[in-house]
Amino acid sequence: MSRRRALQSLALAGAAAALPRRTAAATPARRLGVALVGLGGYSTDLLGPALRLTRHCRLAGLVTGSPHKIAKWQETYGVPDAAIYGYDDIHRIADNPDIDVVYIATPNHLHKPLTLAAANAGKHVWCEKPMAMDAGEGEAMIRACRDNRVQLAIGYRMQHEPNSRRFMEMARTQPFGGIVQLRADAGWFGWRQGADDAWRLDPARGGGAMYDMGVYCVNASRYSTGLEPVAVRAWDETTRRDIFQGVDETMRFTLEFPGDITAACVTSFGRDLNTLHVDCERGWYELSPFQSYDGNVGRASDGTRFTAQLGASPRMQAEQMDQDALAILEARPPRAPGEEGLRDMRVLDAAFASVRSGGERVRIAG
Ligand code: NAD
Repeated sequence: MSRRRALQSLALAGAAAALPRRTAAATPARRLGVALVGLGGYSTDLLGPALRLTRHCRLAGLVTGSPHKIAKWQETYGVPDAAIYGYDDIHRIADNPDIDVVYIATPNHLHKPLTLAAANAGKHVWCEKPMAMDAGEGEAMIRACRDNRVQLAIGYRMQHEPNSRRFMEMARTQPFGGIVQLRADAGWFGWRQGADDAWRLDPARGGGAMYDMGVYCVNASRYSTGLEPVAVRAWDETTRRDIFQGVDETMRFTLEFPGDITAACVTSFGRDLNTLHVDCERGWYELSPFQSYDGNVGRASDGTRFTAQLGASPRMQAEQMDQDALAILEARPPRAPGEEGLRDMRVLDAAFASVRSGGERVRIAG
């Protein structure tokens, strides 16, 4: 059995334990009720509008710690008073049969406790990337969802994007021969004027470029090779020391894959970066941009163009939610289950350990 096949069967086995409880009502004709947790930028600008474009979902609830946001959301989406919750009483969602899925889009340190609360309330969980603060938290999230027989899917939207999916396919078919090396760069220039309360600058809330954008490099390196990295070396760099204290502004890291394949990655809050490049024995291919909300395009050394598009933003988020909804409705594993997020968390754990040791090679837990 190939490594890829073995991983696929593992994913299937994992998800089989997480079949939905109410399979009788679960037909693709039904739209799943989704409660959004955290009404910040991603929910407001992308997930809320995307839910309106979905075929299999509808916005059925809100969980927020900011009561002043509720009226606008109710006005826009018609969510009833009875489906509004705070972080402290999220467990009450258990009593709302209208809500099938809880979608967590909060700062990263809240992903684990909110996943546990949602799973214990008997709801399927969709959780934003990065899955958690570390692999231990990720494992606890997977366990909680498995124990409660609900699905856990991670918001890896690129795994629903057609050109990225073609790269995954090319990892299997190898049209340019074996992969030799990759480059994955993901970043954005942030905080020109600094910020007083930005969780992305706070180590306790999961701040830093690696958690925010580095996961795109890690995930793309894994899906573009179809392999799991075995070791990592990482170094962080800070140029604006007044803004970045205790979190990485820029992190460079090299992933070592079986077969001498390496991925050289850069992630940053100090530079705009958005390229995925794959060198093979007989040519190369790349996407640039590779992780934008739309307009991801690329080319290959033989003149091939990668131009497929889902449509203007937020179509990608709508596709992700529809695919994840179908996985629940049809009782099959989602494309990016919790185990997929966990593998990235193990890479991040090892990368942070490497940074602490001054760039030593650190093995990634299997
Ligand atoms: P944001 O800062 O815009 O919103 C965060 C929300 O969480 C706010 O509504 C805030 O009020 C709330 N919140 C609750 N507790 C908080 C606390 N202790 N500190 C700060 N805020 C708190 O962030 P965002 O950009 O919406 O990101 C939310 C999540 O979505 C993150 O995990 C992020 O990685 C992810 N995200 C994913 C994508 C993607 O393309 N998949 C894009 C953006 C963000």
